[in-house]
Amino acid sequence: MLTLYNDRHALHHGQREMFRGEMVPCFEIPARADFVLAELKRRGLGAIETPAAFDDAVIARVHAPRYLDFLRGAWDEWVALDPANAQRDAFPSYWPIRTFRSDVLPASFPARMGLFSYDAGSPLTSGTWAAAYAGAGCAIVAAQRVLAGERAAFALTRPPGHHAGADFFGGYCFLNNAAIAAQTLRDAGAARVAVLDIDYHHGNGTQAIFYERADVLVTSLHGDPHTEYPYYLGYADEQGAGAGKGFNRNLPLPRGTGFEAWRAALTDALAGIAAFRPDALVVSLGLDTFAGDPIAGFTLQSDDYLRIGEDLARAGLPTVFVFEGGYAVAEVGVNAVNVLEGFAEGAG
Ligand SMILES: [Zn+2]
Repeated sequence: MLTLYNDRHALHHGQREMFRGEMVPCFEIPARADFVLAELKRRGLGAIETPAAFDDAVIARVHAPRYLDFLRGAWDEWVALDPANAQRDAFPSYWPIRTFRSDVLPASFPARMGLFSYDAGSPLTSGTWAAAYAGAGCAIVAAQRVLAGERAAFALTRPPGHHAGADFFGGYCFLNNAAIAAQTLRDAGAARVAVLDIDYHHGNGTQAIFYERADVLVTSLHGDPHTEYPYYLGYADEQGAGAGKGFNRNLPLPRGTGFEAWRAALTDALAGIAAFRPDALVVSLGLDTFAGDPIAGFTLQSDDYLRIGEDLARAGLPTVFVFEGGYAVAEVGVNAVNVLEGFAEGAG
């Protein structure tokens, strides 16, 4: 399988994040992608390329221009507040919750940090934009290569993307790579695209981006938001709106779910996707369903990821994999590549 690797990912390297009331070392660290890359090389699972250049127009078809303007210049604005800020990551402190306005763009940088985010777990660093932008390029080129005839391609990048909405960051995510891949496929002529999110956490950003559209079916398997992040979205009754009614599908599962029940939900999800008759599939590949994950609650084992890859191959669709979560760092490489190897073997 072809891998599009973001060799600038380590430019995004948060130091600490807010977790249950205290600042703790970041869970989303560069070593995650390094372990996946090392395992891909060890097994020799196809070519590994880094896009030299890419057409970035699709990014502004997924994300709002005022959000992209903010993100591009955020670090410089943060340091302009106080030169000492160059030594510490940027975090929001205020959020425009219900009854506040979100149409006004305040001049204050801290106010805009809150306007364009929804949690304090996602440090913005000096290299965040560069890393996220190069990662979006990997998603774009992965989609283009699949359109050009590759059976599948894997965008190996971080920061992840599926929590990022059209105009907000959060959940360690800044640009929604899966949505960018899906939109790239659409723009190049795929009439219908399915996005399947198998990260432990609901892909709230992806859902929101496509919620009123019938051309992109979004299906997500995840920990029940009643108890699991991101809490405020991901319930089974969210089925799309307007033209998109019926084209969003959530399959929340209780904390503690093991592979047998998880796989039954995957079978259900894939049946829904088959009925949609998509031209291509985008998989938000999170590995935080693993039993050893420090911030999640399912109990999948490493061998289970081979079966997942095989199940996904049986869908028979041109497929773009996009790397999302997975914080059991020492195992994330084996688990991610197990999915890809299972897929490659299943695809024959
Ligand atoms: Zn996750």
